[in-house]
Amino acid sequence: MTTPTMELHLQQRLAERREQSLYRHRRELGSAQDARIQLNGRTMLQFCSNDYLGHAGHPKLIEAMQAAAKDFGVGGGASHLICGHSSLHHELEERLAEFTGRERALLFSTGYMANLGLIAGLMQRGDHLLEDRLNHASLLDGGLLSGAKMQRFQHSDTADLERRLKKLPHTGQRLIAVDAVYSMDGDLAPLAEMADLARGHNAWLMADDAHGFGVLGERGAGTAEMLGLDTQQLPVLMATLGKALGSFGAFVAGSATLIESLIQFARPYIYTTAMPPAVAAATLASLDLLQSEGWRRQRLAEHIDFFRAEAKRLGLPLMASQTAIQPLMVNDDALALALSRELEARGVLVSAIRPPTVPLGTARLRITLSAAHSREDIEKLLTTLESACWDVAPQLLEFHS
Ligand SMILES: *Cc1c(COP(=O)(O)O)cnc(C)c1O
Repeated sequence: MTTPTMELHLQQRLAERREQSLYRHRRELGSAQDARIQLNGRTMLQFCSNDYLGHAGHPKLIEAMQAAAKDFGVGGGASHLICGHSSLHHELEERLAEFTGRERALLFSTGYMANLGLIAGLMQRGDHLLEDRLNHASLLDGGLLSGAKMQRFQHSDTADLERRLKKLPHTGQRLIAVDAVYSMDGDLAPLAEMADLARGHNAWLMADDAHGFGVLGERGAGTAEMLGLDTQQLPVLMATLGKALGSFGAFVAGSATLIESLIQFARPYIYTTAMPPAVAAATLASLDLLQSEGWRRQRLAEHIDFFRAEAKRLGLPLMASQTAIQPLMVNDDALALALSRELEARGVLVSAIRPPTVPLGTARLRITLSAAHSREDIEKLLTTLESACWDVAPQLLEFHS
């Protein structure tokens, strides 16, 4: 047999994807993120961005970015360790440390890279890494990059985690790494119990708060603030700046020793160009907005309560989430896709999430709510969901008989 050419080989793999209803398509966005966006030239009411507070297109962030670009230009120009670490980056790191109540913080260009850098920087061959089964792909990839022995425990199952901790040999370091808010489910990790387990078994605890930072906690400082977890309990806190903060990038916060170690050892920090300083300026403006427009968190909380109460009344298959991520469980890949297409035809954009992003047989509609939405937008979502379900997926409605 001859070796297939690259074209042929890839075409076969693509055809397989299509047959499995797992093929993905991009759509062209022609506007800023908002409740309504221009997609492929059409105005759509959207429930799929992670811009939970409506900061991404806010005039304050735009102004800050424009002003900073005048002084600092566009490109970062070099890595942080060469000559790309600007005073704006530094100011943002200090603000993030203060805001999260940690000694220091370190900026990364993206959340994906922060997780790679963090895990591969902290863990070495012979160390032990324990991850939740539903962790974000970047945490799993970080584990692979680190060379540590990785185990995945049952989702949020502290008994399973404890069993595994008890069986670990007494050599090497131990890190427990979890999402604080699960990105496709919206539920919270039992971080307080995990902190106790970590202490009892001499392990370090790390949480990725991509979906809690900006939204949860009294001041929006995230899941750690909401649960009152200090540096002793949660020594490694990571969060992203491209979701509720409406900007771009990510950071790790913790002790000065942790941060200094990441600067020395985290290759995805060292070998990459610093984010544009103007992006850091936009994030600083976003942190100001968290303070001055706290009503956005309040409004989001009201949307979540209203959506859940109404969806329950309509018999929609809600999942157990109290956050801005409100998925509807469909299970079947093709059905999730059909429902998403039906909604789109009616002007409402909700993405169908299928394997491998979620486990086999758990395809879902991932609905995300935002302070950018009005009460009427949420009502429109509910009525459109109900009628689309009746048309293409009546089996999903609890009271369909
Ligand atoms: C989005 C996300 C990331 C990646 O962050 P980016 O800045 O988009 O690269 C990491 N972890 C979780 C849980 C996320 O949801």
